[in-house]
Amino acid sequence: MCSGEGRSVGLSAPRLTVQGSGLRRSTGSLIEACSRLARIPTASFRKPQLPQLRRWLAPLLALLALLGLTTPAAAWWEYGHQTVAEIAMSQVQPLTRADILALLKQDKKLETPTCPAHTIEQASVWPDCIKTLGDRFSYVFAWHFQDVETCKPFDTKSACANGACVSAQIARAQRMLADRKLPARDRLTALALLVHFVGDLHQPLHAVEHDNDQGGNKVKASYGAVTGTNLHSIWDGLLADRAISTAPPGPKGILSEISSEQRKALAAGTIEDWGRESWEIAKTDVYGPVEKDICAPTPKTPVVMDEATIEKEVPVLRLQIAKGGLRLARLLDEALDGDHPEVAHPPKPPKVIPVVAPTTPAS
Ligand SMILES: [Zn+2]
Repeated sequence: MCSGEGRSVGLSAPRLTVQGSGLRRSTGSLIEACSRLARIPTASFRKPQLPQLRRWLAPLLALLALLGLTTPAAAWWEYGHQTVAEIAMSQVQPLTRADILALLKQDKKLETPTCPAHTIEQASVWPDCIKTLGDRFSYVFAWHFQDVETCKPFDTKSACANGACVSAQIARAQRMLADRKLPARDRLTALALLVHFVGDLHQPLHAVEHDNDQGGNKVKASYGAVTGTNLHSIWDGLLADRAISTAPPGPKGILSEISSEQRKALAAGTIEDWGRESWEIAKTDVYGPVEKDICAPTPKTPVVMDEATIEKEVPVLRLQIAKGGLRLARLLDEALDGDHPEVAHPPKPPKVIPVVAPTTPAS
C-alpha cells in the first residue's frame, strides 16, 4: 500500500520521526517523501527486510526518541505489505508454503538484482521496488489501485478498463501462478504481484476516488501533530504503522485477536467483494471522519485526523490487514495446493446476445 502509484502528486511531505507517543516533523528527505507519496520505492527497499529486524525497530525508535534523538523514518507501508504476506504464509497449507519457498529460491531469474524477491517479505514489496527500474516495468504502475468514484454506485467498469486495476490483476496473477506450464520467472513475478496487490486492495484508499483526488493523495491533511501530509499517505504509512505496532503487535498479534471461525468467514467472498468492501470503508472510515460531505469538492484547507479519530481507525486498519493476509492465503492455496475448488475471479461481464431482426415474409 504505497501512495500515488502512477499518479502525479506533490512532494511536500515531511520526513517523520517517532517521538514519545506521537510523531513530529524533522528535516525532510525529498526522495523518501516522494516515495511515500508517489509510491516510488527508496533505498529502504534494498535494505534487509528481515522480520526480526522490525521486531526491535519500534522499541528502538521509541528509545531513541526518548533520548531526544531523531532517526530515519521507518519504511512505513512496506511494513503493511510484509505483515499481510507474513499472515498469509502462516495460514497457507504446507504444500503451498513449500511451492512458494521453491519459487522464491529462483528470484535471480527475475534479473532484478537491486530488487530481490528471495523472501516473502521482499516479494511483497518487489512491485514497488521495480519502479526504480524505469520503463522495463512501467506497464505495472497502474495496477496498484482502482479509482472507483465514492459518490456513484459501485462500478469497476471504467476503473478496470482493459484489466488495468488492482482487482483484475489479482485475478490474473493468481491464474498465472497456478499455471505450472509457465516458466518459473513468470510464476514468481505473478507471486510477487499477487502478494503485493492483495495488500493494496485492502488499503481503502487504493480502491476509491473522490473528486479526482487520486485516492486521497490530493487531500491535504494533518495527523495528530504531523502537518503537511495527505490522507493517502496517512493511511498508507502513518496509520498503518501505528495499527501494526499497537499491542498485540505484528502479524501474530493481529491474528491472535481473530478466532479460527472468524478467519474462515473473513477469507470468504470474491475479489470484487473485497474491492467493494474497501470502497465502503473508504467512505465511512477514511473520508467520513474528516470530510463533512464527501460528495462535495475536495477541501482546500487540510483535513484534521485527531487522536480520537486515529484511535477509532486503528482497529479498522488492523482488521483490513488481517483480511488481506487471510484472503491472500486462500488465493495462494487455490493457485498452488488445489485445496480449494473455487477460484475467485471478478464476475465476468454478461454475455450480449445479438438481437436478430425478424425477417419480413416476402410478399
Ligand atoms: Zn502498491
